[in-house]
This record gives sequence, C-alpha cells and structure tokens, in this order.
Amino acid sequence: SAATLVTTMAACGSAEKTTDKEASSGNNSGALVGITMPTKSSERWIHDGDNLKSQLEGLGYKVDLQYAENDIPTQTQQLDSQITKGAKLLIIASIDGTALSSQLDNAKAANIPVIAYDRLIRGNANVDYYTTFDNFKVGVQQATSLLTGLGVLKADGSKGDGKGPFNVELFAGSPDDNNATFFFNGAMSILDPYIKDGTLVVKSGQKDFKTVATLRWDPETAQKRMENILTSTYKAGAKVNGVLSPYDGISIGILSALKSAGYGTDGKYPTVTGQDAELASVKSIIKGEQYSTIYKDTRQLAKVTGEMADAILKGQTPQTNNTTDYDNGKKVVPAQLLQSVIVDKDNYQKVIVDGGYYTADQLK
Ligand code: BGC
Repeated sequence: SAATLVTTMAACGSAEKTTDKEASSGNNSGALVGITMPTKSSERWIHDGDNLKSQLEGLGYKVDLQYAENDIPTQTQQLDSQITKGAKLLIIASIDGTALSSQLDNAKAANIPVIAYDRLIRGNANVDYYTTFDNFKVGVQQATSLLTGLGVLKADGSKGDGKGPFNVELFAGSPDDNNATFFFNGAMSILDPYIKDGTLVVKSGQKDFKTVATLRWDPETAQKRMENILTSTYKAGAKVNGVLSPYDGISIGILSALKSAGYGTDGKYPTVTGQDAELASVKSIIKGEQYSTIYKDTRQLAKVTGEMADAILKGQTPQTNNTTDYDNGKKVVPAQLLQSVIVDKDNYQKVIVDGGYYTADQLK
C-alpha cells in the first residue's frame, strides 16, 4: 500500500542518513589518532608531538605518537602499523614528502583522513588537509633579518647605512622537504635584487637550491659545507659577513665552522639567521652569536591541527585559510596557515619569554 511505501521510504531515508553519518563522522568519540613526527633530534618536533597529543587527549581521543629519527622506512612502518591498529585519522609530519604514497593509498582505502602537519606530503591525492606556517613568508623573514643584521635595512624595514659589498653564503634545508624550497624561494625573493646590484656577494658562487640544500637538515653536513667554503673561498683574507641559514640546528653547525676558523674571538660574528627558536639558539642569540631565528609557535600549530582533526572526526568541514598555494603535484591541498615572527636580541624577551614559550630560567 501507499502507506507501507511511505514508511519504507522513510525508514530507508533515515537508515541512509545514519550510514552517511557513520561513514564521515562515525562514532569517533574516543577514536585513535595516529601522529607521526620526523625526529626527536630537533626540539620543535618534540614540542609539536607533545602539544598535539595533550590537545587530542583533552578532546577525548586516544593518541599513538611516533618519532622516526629521520629514517624513512621507520616512518612508513609506523604509518602501516597505525592503519592496522585502526586509527581513524592520521597526522603526519613527513621526513621525505614523496615517500608515503602507498601508506596514503591504504589510508584512503580504509577511509582514514590524512592531515599533513607542517610539511606537505607530495605526489598523492589522498592528503585531505595541511596545517603549517606561511612558509614563503618564513623565507622572506629570514632574508629580511639577514639584511637587518648587515645594516642594509633598519629594523623598521627602511634603508640602513650598510652599503656593502657584503660577503654572504646561502644554506637551504632538505631537498625532500617541500618547505625547504618555499623558505629558499621566499628568501631569494628578497635577496636577489641585492645580489644583482652588488650589495651582497655570494663569494663561493653557490647559489642554486640544489647546491646549497642540506639533506635531512643535518647540522654536521652544514658545518662541513661551511668549513669547505671557508677554506676554498675565504683563505686569502676575505671575510664572511652573513649567512642565510634556514634552521637553528644548521645555524649551530655554521657557527661552529666560523668559530673554528677564528671568527668571534673579538666577540663579533657574521649575521647568521635561523628558524624554530630552539633553546640553544635563543641562548646563542642572547650571547650575541646567532643573529636571529624565526619563531613558530608550535603550541598554536598543534591547537589548530587538533581542532581540525576534531572537526573532521565529527564529520564537519574544518577551517582553512589557503586553497591556492600548496599544490602537491596531484591536488591543491586546502591549508590552514599560521604566521611566524622574526626573533632577535631586541625582542626575544617580549616574544619568547613574555609569550611563555621559554621561561627566563630556561634561557640562563
Ligand atoms: C620545518 C622547520 C624546521 C625544519 C627542520 C621544516 O619542515 O618547517 O620549522 O626548521 O623542518 O626540522
């Protein structure tokens, strides 16, 4: 009868609704979230992992947090195991952004959404969202700070008294990390005109990304490259005035090379930039060795990522603020970008200490 048909349709409708809902939001309260981080050799990832874990646990989820010590097979294995354990969502800070395709395919097949954390995962369409800082801007800030340290610019961005020519050397991050290219391109967008007009001289001649990249962001690799540049290019008495460094660990390697070559005995160092506001580097800045770092509040990144994960697990559409810049080769991944801050001797107290990232005691 017509009445039965209506009832049946209604039943189907509501059954369908439940099924839809279950597919997207499931009954995900208390679900397992897998987090994979690249390494504990840099503090920032420890903070990221800890902050994410406590955030998600606070929202009632279970968390499996793994570190892979920059070893790609370890990371892929950790992801395989999280998928097997029934994780309902994966948050991945990749080591090699192109090495995770089979894991992403498996995640897709099991209906597990993926958030790329800080570093974009490339070459596979199964990356749902991306949370990170504005990476091009980080590079712009590094270069701007290099110019400020050299006196080419004043702190307010206006023209300084430094005319040059200044000898600078360039370092970039790991070529398999998508961010490294963004940082370098951002930095070169600022430095190129000064190289062209002769204010800056890259005396080693090493300028292109491939030549200046540092595999796995390894401090010792950077230290060796700096030592080689010092012996090959600066032995005749010319001095290095500045070094573009993409990451605090690399800056420490560069500064060691400079110290071994006799820099700093008068208490003065070339302008060396950095990134991440790692404890040792903020201390180095206070001592007047490293010039600056780029502070990325990993508490904020964890917070927006935790909120994003929660929204996805509840079947809602998470917030994003960039849907144009992060093409991973297969799709443009919707991203939530945060802003970073240049930190140097003049503002570390206000930004880092007053901001609660480190206590004054930690910096002693
Ligand atoms: C991160 C940086 C970090 C670098 C080395 C990049 O992907 O965005 O914050 O300095 O990796 O760990």
